[in-house]
Amino acid sequence: MPPFETDELKNIGARLEQFRSIVQFVPIGVFQIDGDDRYTFVNPAWEKITGCSFKNALGQIWWNVIHPDDRQMVFYSWGQSQGEGNELSVECRINLPGVERRWVRLRTNFLYHDTGKKIFGSLEDISNQKKIEVERENLIAELREAKCELEISSRTDPLTGLLNRRGMEEKLESEVLRFERNNKPFTLIMTDIDHFKKVNDTYGHDTGDFSLAQLARILIQHSRKQDVVCRWGGEEFLMLLPETPLRGGSALAEKLRSRIEQEALTFKNHKFKLTLSLGIACIHEDQNLGSCIKHADVRLYLAKQRGRNQIVWED
Ligand code: GH3
Ligand code: MG
Ligand code: MG
Repeated sequence: MPPFETDELKNIGARLEQFRSIVQFVPIGVFQIDGDDRYTFVNPAWEKITGCSFKNALGQIWWNVIHPDDRQMVFYSWGQSQGEGNELSVECRINLPGVERRWVRLRTNFLYHDTGKKIFGSLEDISNQKKIEVERENLIAELREAKCELEISSRTDPLTGLLNRRGMEEKLESEVLRFERNNKPFTLIMTDIDHFKKVNDTYGHDTGDFSLAQLARILIQHSRKQDVVCRWGGEEFLMLLPETPLRGGSALAEKLRSRIEQEALTFKNHKFKLTLSLGIACIHEDQNLGSCIKHADVRLYLAKQRGRNQIVWED
């Protein structure tokens, strides 16, 4: 034993050896930087994570291993942590040319020593964790989109692309609220194709479907942007005309009746025409939504009774 080696020194030497073995063995990258921002030590895990050898790392500027796109963010956090005397902990990418992007958690601690500033840090490979996070976010985005599509389709009639009854009921309810606020009444037009069964029986169901889609197109064509058109059911359509009095609604109904009467439809060499019966009702202060719809319905029935191809706006 050399004369200066005491038991205490021997113990320190053994403990240092122990620490060195641990640092060589751990799967987390460990490094040390000097006051000039250059590497003075890196362990094997650091070499594996960064793809840079111990030999090449020594004396190099520490941020060379950080992906250029993330350097600004790391510098900013670095400066903040150093200023506040806290440990730095950020997620960033490693600059690995030609290799799949690797995500790491970078942690550093700033120590001030007699010999100057010393920085110790660690790099933890979190690529798998990041991949799972990205997959989860993509899945959530897909689910959100599917939910949105489902909500739209639950309110849409697939044949005509118009709102279905469910979608219209929501619009009607909000229109009633608006009427209660501003006292500007809305008008409803309930319309039904005359003798539509005959179209199906004579030309086939696909010609009937075609007619419904064509009628929907014409109703939309003649309505204003704020009007709402829906397929109320079967060959029955309901139009909601916000802030429109009975007279305005009746004028539109008559325009539609006359337009349909003149329109010659052609499908698979079948040429034919349709007519419409229409019932019009305007909401009153002392009336609820159900009763207004009922009025439009009763007037539609009256139009049928009076011979079809006509409009009725009073009982
Ligand atoms: P009215 O003038 O009294 O209204 O006579 P109509 O023949 O139009 O009335 P009816 O209630 O007797 O018949 C309605 C027809 O509408 C029968 C039904 O098959 C048809 N229909 C309802 N929905 C559809 C659909 O989606 N496609 C087709 N092609 N036909 C439909
Ligand atoms: Mg009908
Ligand atoms: Mg009907």
